[in-house]
Parts: sequence; structure tokens; C-alpha cells
Amino acid sequence: MTPPCQVVPETLPYSNSNVNSPSKVTVPAQAHQQPSTPFDGYKFEPIREATVNRAMTSRYFRDLEAYAESDIVIVGAGSAGLSCAYELSKIAPDVKVAIIEQNVAPGGGAWLGGQLFSAMVIRKPAHLLLDELEVPYEDEGSYVVCKHAALMTSTLLSKVLKNGNVKLFNATAVEDLIVKQDPQGLKYCAGVVTNWTLVALNHDTQSCMDPNVIESKVIVSGCGHDGPFGAQCVKRLAKLGMLDEYAQNGIQGMGALDMNSAEDKIVNNTREVVPGMILTGMELAEVDGSPRMGPTFGAMFVSGQRAAHLALAALRKKQEEETKV
Ligand SMILES: Cc1cc2nc3c(=O)[nH]c(=O)nc-3n(C[C@H](O)[C@H](O)[C@H](O)COP(=O)(O)OP(=O)(O)OC[C@H]3O[C@@H](n4cnc5c(N)ncnc54)[C@H](O)[C@@H]3O)c2cc1C
Repeated sequence: MTPPCQVVPETLPYSNSNVNSPSKVTVPAQAHQQPSTPFDGYKFEPIREATVNRAMTSRYFRDLEAYAESDIVIVGAGSAGLSCAYELSKIAPDVKVAIIEQNVAPGGGAWLGGQLFSAMVIRKPAHLLLDELEVPYEDEGSYVVCKHAALMTSTLLSKVLKNGNVKLFNATAVEDLIVKQDPQGLKYCAGVVTNWTLVALNHDTQSCMDPNVIESKVIVSGCGHDGPFGAQCVKRLAKLGMLDEYAQNGIQGMGALDMNSAEDKIVNNTREVVPGMILTGMELAEVDGSPRMGPTFGAMFVSGQRAAHLALAALRKKQEEETKV
């Protein structure tokens, strides 16, 4: 095969023979011993640097503008948020969904099982989602084991991102909520207040870094259990006094571990806690004090799926009300 450049055999890259003859490209002696591959002499199409810039920024700003008014905003792209987005794209592919994820990498805690081990345990019948996504597993009777949590999460993520009506804004944090009052004085959630995560992390060191906003008819919050960013929406709602029905003295936080009761509770308690705000996944346990569940993920997936149906019903109701006005 013809080499892609002029080669001086057996010459080292920094040898004297190369100093005064820049037109000659020298390669390490061992380069001659490389076996040939389909990628030898690889050459990219030419491109201008400014073109790369415009290819990214034009799309991002177009999306920012398009999703300034979203049908549904999902806060948090963990297992609950992602399965919610997946179910929505199945049952209502026309609905415009923005996912806001504070981390660079979407997926939340679902890249690993417990104690940083690889396998993901899913109790039946939540394995039906794996069947649907064609994610392989070992069937252990009452539960299944996916050999690596990342296999399930990456498959789910890729399905979600393929939907043209879903936009993931990652490295973006929800800092606050838009809350309005209806003519009867009832408070409801009407959107989210966002900022670059790196900015959100620096409010203590820099002043006046104002956020941006996304209006949304329905919000699904799947921020996970409490942490630097976790449980953001319920913590904010509690501060605003909007969770008094459930948490008069502030949110109580998740209870001690009990896998058997934890998973059913998360799925069955998935609900609209205040008008316009549906909670899913472990964020629910912060309000309800229901048990943490350890490294079983079925409840997160099914809670997200259930949240999708609740969100769609809330959206349709709002759209109906708007057409009446
Ligand atoms: C090794 C390991 C051990 C675990 N052990 C347990 C356990 O014992 N018990 C238990 O209950 N859980 C445990 N978990 C957590 C487990 O990951 C969660 O139960 C599960 O992931 C919760 O799913 P979720 O979708 O509700 O939240 P998460 O997977 O936590 O996803 C929440 C997502 O929301 C994003 N987010 C949070 N706040 C914001 C914000 N303000 N703006 C934008 N995005 C935001 C986060 O970055 C994250 O991606 C463990 C996780 C790991 C990795």
C-alpha cells in the first residue's frame, strides 16, 4: 500500500537527518511494522473552524427559542426522568418535551448498581421495559439482572434522544420554579428557572448572574434524593409553602431501606403534588418519607412511565381549558 506521506525509512522523528529537510516527514522505525487497516491514509473532508461554531450554536439557539415554551419539562435525566421521556415519546410523540439535566452526563445514578458494582437488578414485572427496549438480561425468576447498568441506561437514553420532539439541555440546572396563581387564588407551577450548572454552582462567588426561564404547561420532577442538586423541586415547593399538605415542617427525607415496600410505594405514590408539578423517582421519597430502596431500579423506571401518563393527562386538561377561554 502507498504510504500517505514521504517516508524516510528507519529514521527516528527527531534525528539530525530531519532538521534541515522539513519537506521530508520521518516516522518511527516501528511504524513500518504496523499491519494495514481499512483506516490507513485516512483523510477528512475539509472544514472551516467558523463552520463548526455555526453548526453548533445555530442549532442550540434554535432549540432554546423553540423550547422557551414547552408542553412538558422533565427536571433530571436519571432513570425516572428518562423513562418518563421514553414513555411520552411512545404515547404522545407530538408533545414537545424539554429535559433539563444539571450534569454533563445524563443518566443520574443509573450507570452503576449498588456500591459501584456493574449489574443492575430489576424486579419483575418492571423487566417488561427491558423486553420492550430489547435489553438482554439473565432471568432469575422473580427478578432479572442486566449485566451492566450502563447497557440499560444507554439504550433508554438513545431511544429518548432519537425523538425529534425531545430536547435534552444538559449542564443546565433548574434553580427555581415559575409559580403563578389562578383566578381562584390557587397556586400552580408554570415553568422552570434555569442556569448553566457552572453558574448555579458559583452564586456565592459571583453576584448578579441572572437565570433564564422555560414556560411549561406541566413539569415532571425526577431530581432524585437529596444532595447538592437532588430533590431541588420539592425543596423549593416546601420553602414556598406549597407542600404543606404533605410536609408542614419541611420535607422529612427518605426513610430507612426496605426494598419490598419501597418500590411499590414509589410507583403508586407517583403523582401531581401541586397543580402543574408531577413527582417521580426518589424525589418522591423525600416528601413521603418512604424507604430508600437500595440498588434496585425497577421502581424508578415504572414511576417514570406512570408520570408520563399523568403528565399527558394534565397537559390535555390544560390544553382543553385554554381552548375554552
Ligand atoms: C452506587 C449507587 C448506590 C445507590 N444506592 C442507593 C440506595 O441505597 N438507596 C436508594 O434509594 N438509592 C440508591 N442509589 C441511587 C439510585 O441511583 C437511585 O435510587 C435512582 O437512581 C434514583 O433514580 P431517580 O431517577 O429518581 O434519580 P437520579 O438517578 O438521582 O437522577 C436524578 C437526576 O436529576 C438531576 N438533577 C438533580 N437536581 C437537578 C436540578 N436542580 N436541575 C437539573 N437536573 C437535576 C441529577 O443530576 C440526576 O441526573 C444508588 C446509586 C448508586 C449509583
